[in-house]
Amino acid sequence: MSSSTNSYLSKRLLKLNVGFLLSEGPGNSRTIPITIPERVQVDDDLFIESLNGDMTLSRTKEGILAQATLQVATKRECDRCLDEFVHKFDVPVEELFAFPPDPDNSVFSIDSTGDIDLALLLREEILIEEDYRVFCREDCKGLSAENGINLNHEEDIVEEVEDMSVTDAPIDPRLAILKQLLDDRN
Ligand SMILES: [Zn+2]
Repeated sequence: MSSSTNSYLSKRLLKLNVGFLLSEGPGNSRTIPITIPERVQVDDDLFIESLNGDMTLSRTKEGILAQATLQVATKRECDRCLDEFVHKFDVPVEELFAFPPDPDNSVFSIDSTGDIDLALLLREEILIEEDYRVFCREDCKGLSAENGINLNHEEDIVEEVEDMSVTDAPIDPRLAILKQLLDDRN
């Protein structure tokens, strides 16, 4: 992916230290705002463009329960017109990070330094989301069956032509043909 050549923040940023809450004992909780407005690496070839949301961390007997609805943005290719765009979606989170680690009952755990790693959690959710078809916009017109041209972009040219006819500006000869076609159609 060419995106990996752009600058991005380390996935270490996705680690939250919950050591303070562990020592407070069961029944305590804290809500932590998460605001990352920049590109972060989630896995070797997986990036998010931003991450936002409030995460509630609750100390239970089994560890820390993390609850949130995170707004995630990733770069995707439109499944209709193939343009790249930033796709925003919500990730509901309700996950127990076990302490001490308990691989039989919880996939996620708190490491020896008291960190929980959101990267693992996000990775799973993003991979699930990537199985769904997405469109750059609700009314994406897709590609022309005749010549493969992105019909969303063609619309821009049409608007340009219409603007010109209003101002009576001289028309580019290539656009004049298109204007002729449009006039015939109207
Ligand atoms: Zn599209």
